[in-house]
Amino acid sequence: MANKLTRRDVIKCSLGAGVGAGIGAGLFQNASQAVASESEDTVVPRKRVLRFAHLTDIHVKPERGAGQGMAAALRHAQALDDPPEMIFTGGDGIMDALAATHSRTKQQWQLWNSILKDECSLPLQHCIGNHDIWGWSKSKSETTGDEALWGKQWALQAYGLAKSYRSFDQAGWHFIVLDSVQPRPQGGYMAVLDDEQFDWLANDLAGVDPATPIIVISHIPIVSVTPAFFKDYFKDSKTQVPGSLLHNDMHRIKDLFYNHKNVRLCVSGHIHLVDRVEYLGVTYICDGAVSGAWWGGDWHETPPGYGVFDLYDDASFDHVYVPYGWEARE
Ligand SMILES: [Zn+2]
Repeated sequence: MANKLTRRDVIKCSLGAGVGAGIGAGLFQNASQAVASESEDTVVPRKRVLRFAHLTDIHVKPERGAGQGMAAALRHAQALDDPPEMIFTGGDGIMDALAATHSRTKQQWQLWNSILKDECSLPLQHCIGNHDIWGWSKSKSETTGDEALWGKQWALQAYGLAKSYRSFDQAGWHFIVLDSVQPRPQGGYMAVLDDEQFDWLANDLAGVDPATPIIVISHIPIVSVTPAFFKDYFKDSKTQVPGSLLHNDMHRIKDLFYNHKNVRLCVSGHIHLVDRVEYLGVTYICDGAVSGAWWGGDWHETPPGYGVFDLYDDASFDHVYVPYGWEARE
């Protein structure tokens, strides 16, 4: 019978939709059900190939014990009973360089580097965020734009990156790390891929074996409902998403992903809130922030925390958001 679904088909279908939606799971426990636990003789259990922690929006600064908070989050992640094999930082590692002077920016990156050196024994990957960019607010940062480290250069140096976007293969998955942040013609920044990066992304996707699952990391979400909880979302009886909160080019990125069904998972930060959106077979997860409300406690209902991702050999994945118990300090 052509239409008779086997258990294996059902599992495949649920994987196609992102391994279920964590039925009955709480806000911070939206991991998928374990496929292997449903196993029958004919089902090959999935095998975990990588566990990594996603520490985003750390926003480290000398005040409010932020350095101790960053260290506490790193220690917490590495001391889990089943610890991650890699740490991915998701951007906005420092409080702010956009409007900070040279000395203030230097102070923040020194703090960042010394804490990572002392507190992180795992391999690191980084993604650039808006607050990592030095001096785009020229008057406040007292810059001219001619400084060697101006713009993204300082962050690239601090993160040890040659370029603000890249891809690599690990554990049978293809990782794409995007640079969400471009200057806005009227000043400030907006979330978008410029044409050069978009073309690079299209080419990169085209070069991946369709059997290889793809994970995309960006600082700013491509798709997320979290911006709806920002006060500017409803203004003058209209709804509007500020161009700094979501990728302005989500439509063309969606079209691109639609042609590459092996794009499985998109991970972001920036909003400091957690959500999970399933759309056209892609799961978009926005993680909360290590800094919570920029070291002022919880942001809305979301406590300071980090994400733990498990990637499997059957293109499935799990995610949990892990609060690490940080209390705001004066
Ligand atoms: Zn950000």
